[in-house]
Amino acid sequence: MIAVDDRLDLIHEEIARCTKCALHETRTHTVPGEGSPNARLMIVGEAPGAREDETGRPFVGRSGNLLTTYLSEIGLTREEVFITSVLKCRPPRNRSPHRNEIDACLPYLIRQIMSIQPEIIMLVGGVAISSLIGPWKLADAHGRFYEANGLKFFMTYHPAAALRFPKIADVIRQDLQILRAELDIGGH
Ligand code: SF4
Repeated sequence: MIAVDDRLDLIHEEIARCTKCALHETRTHTVPGEGSPNARLMIVGEAPGAREDETGRPFVGRSGNLLTTYLSEIGLTREEVFITSVLKCRPPRNRSPHRNEIDACLPYLIRQIMSIQPEIIMLVGGVAISSLIGPWKLADAHGRFYEANGLKFFMTYHPAAALRFPKIADVIRQDLQILRAELDIGGH
């Protein structure tokens, strides 16, 4: 049987060659995601930004640093979760993803989820939520779990929102305490 790491590597090789939407024309690097192939928690954001496009790594800019901090506060490291996003290539000037780009890219995310089989998939921000679950106002959705097709999702704000609105940082921290309790992990 093919190992999870090998399956993920194959998916990531396909992503590196992907030309299924126009974003391949403007990307520097694809950003497939990284972390543990055996992660209990998978984190899904919107799309790579400038720093991610430069490095090929997910969530490494300012909001990525914030995410890393929030995770450490509930006793998790980046290495033990798997971090990715709905789109694997950066939209020019960080514009919102177009529907056709999401439709083209989503099969990669679904395959990553099926390969890793995490206990919980944390969707951060409205694009991740609407892409995987459907439209849901963040103000209502955050801090909640949602189960469908044998998958368990948890929803919160994107850390980029906390950079713009400091009150959102408190909301994310409270949400993550709910997540921590569900995963039954330590932390402070
Ligand atoms: S965003 Fe996704 S579908 Fe579009 S080119 Fe990149 S990997 Fe392919």
